[in-house]
Amino acid sequence: MKTCVTCGQTFLLSDDERDFLKRMAFTFGSITIPLPEPTRCPDCRLQRRTCHRNERFLYKAESSLSRKPMVSIYEAGALWGKDYLVYGHDEWNGDGWEASKDNRTYDPARSFFEQWADLHKAVPRMGLIVLANENCDFTTGTAYSKNCYLTNSSEYCEDCYYGKLLQKCRNCVDCSYIYDSERCYDCVGVYDSYGCTSLAFSKNCSDCHFSTNLLGCKNCILCSNLRQKEFHVRNKPVSKEEYQKTLLSFQNSHTAHEALTKEWHEIERSRVHRFANIVNCEACTGDEIENSKHCTECFDLTDSQDCLHAYVGVAIKDTQHSSNMYMKVELCYDILGAIEVYHGAYCLFCFYSQDLLYSEYCQHCKDCFGCVGLKHKRYCIFNKQYTKEEYEKLVPEIIDAMRRRGEWGEYFPAKNAPFGYNETLANEYFPLTKEEAIAKGFLWRDLTDRMPDVAKVIPAAQLPDSITDIPDDVLNWAIRCEKTDRPFRIIKQELQFCRDMNLPLPRLHPDVRYDDRLAWRNPRKLWNRACMKCQKGIQTSYAPDRPETVYCEECYLKEVY
Ligand SMILES: [Zn+2]
Ligand SMILES: [Zn+2]
Repeated sequence: MKTCVTCGQTFLLSDDERDFLKRMAFTFGSITIPLPEPTRCPDCRLQRRTCHRNERFLYKAESSLSRKPMVSIYEAGALWGKDYLVYGHDEWNGDGWEASKDNRTYDPARSFFEQWADLHKAVPRMGLIVLANENCDFTTGTAYSKNCYLTNSSEYCEDCYYGKLLQKCRNCVDCSYIYDSERCYDCVGVYDSYGCTSLAFSKNCSDCHFSTNLLGCKNCILCSNLRQKEFHVRNKPVSKEEYQKTLLSFQNSHTAHEALTKEWHEIERSRVHRFANIVNCEACTGDEIENSKHCTECFDLTDSQDCLHAYVGVAIKDTQHSSNMYMKVELCYDILGAIEVYHGAYCLFCFYSQDLLYSEYCQHCKDCFGCVGLKHKRYCIFNKQYTKEEYEKLVPEIIDAMRRRGEWGEYFPAKNAPFGYNETLANEYFPLTKEEAIAKGFLWRDLTDRMPDVAKVIPAAQLPDSITDIPDDVLNWAIRCEKTDRPFRIIKQELQFCRDMNLPLPRLHPDVRYDDRLAWRNPRKLWNRACMKCQKGIQTSYAPDRPETVYCEECYLKEVY
């Protein structure tokens, strides 16, 4: 057991993690340096990593290079004082500039993090973290996608609007954590489904609505915990005609839709819950894991193996205490935002690289230390080019100095995050007030809405009840959110989608809808408690004081089959 230097809680450093830190060793000529033992508990490490990731607050900005208008995750006016340089995606990736020109000579008399911060604040940033998209200007953390708007952390998507963590989806609106699905609306934790609205934690479903935890179901409304069922309403079989009648009763009416949403939430509270959503896995603990093996205390992983405390990953291997990794990430520790990285530690947004330490925004690099924004480089320190021999001599010296200053093994400091804490992923899982965040050393941004440039602004209550009565002109209005009064607009594709699907227009601001979907999910934390049916011990993300009925796998399966 160790004591966290941030929160004072004790935490377990397992033998597995100790062995892993040795296996993660970096070799510099004849010197091999293992990673040091962590000083912070897993939660504090997760919080410190994720305060460097803004995945949902986008701003209208101007490129620092071409002065062209652009969308950016960086609001004008850096919270750390000196303003940052932000380039458009193509500009950043183009030949018009070269990060290695801004290189620094390491000064042994100064702290590593201070010197790194100087470089980090000077090198131009990518306005959005995107890769190989087409017409996805208002998205970040996205790749290989087309015609998407306000989606994040998504790959291979087309025509998706307002969402988080969508993988290979088409025509989905207001969804979070959905995979290989099409024409879905207001869904959370859904796999391989079609034409579903207001569906949570389900797989292989079509035309299911206001339902939770269905597998292989079709045409179900207000159902939960069903397997391979068709034409069911409130978990009871009904005739096709009766089903159609129920469907028509709520479609196309905001009032009826609201009533069913309320009933859906009530069903969710009273249904029997499986201890975790772990599907087709071997020896895994955590939640929302699919097709994986030997993953411990992991969340939102697919096709992965041998991981510990990994959060959001597809096809990752042998990686610990890391977040938001996409494809072939292997042998990594304490990293955030990676694609095809092999052997990296304490890094941020590095792609297609290997053997990196303390680097950010580096692509196609190998053997780099403390670098920012490099492409196709090897043996660099603070963006300065060295020979192999010089690199292998200097890095161990820097690590030695970092050890003496208590910097070695720590993630980038929170005060150097380019965002307010409230703009970041950390605030989704560890929400703090402004005062709390500042007291803990995080930055904070006072967010204000810009009034959209529109013909008129109407309160949501003034929208017609039925989608058929909504005029095209709604695209020229702003609507005031029912809950927050914040103005928001409807986009053309969204209006078309709602018309096609017979859905009422949303009356809540997209941020509220986003938070409402997040509220369906449990914290990324496990508790030891007993199955409420057989008393067997379970590790679950349902805290012991929660009201839900939570069963172990066996008891749950008996319940649903
Ligand atoms: Zn802690
Ligand atoms: Zn049980």
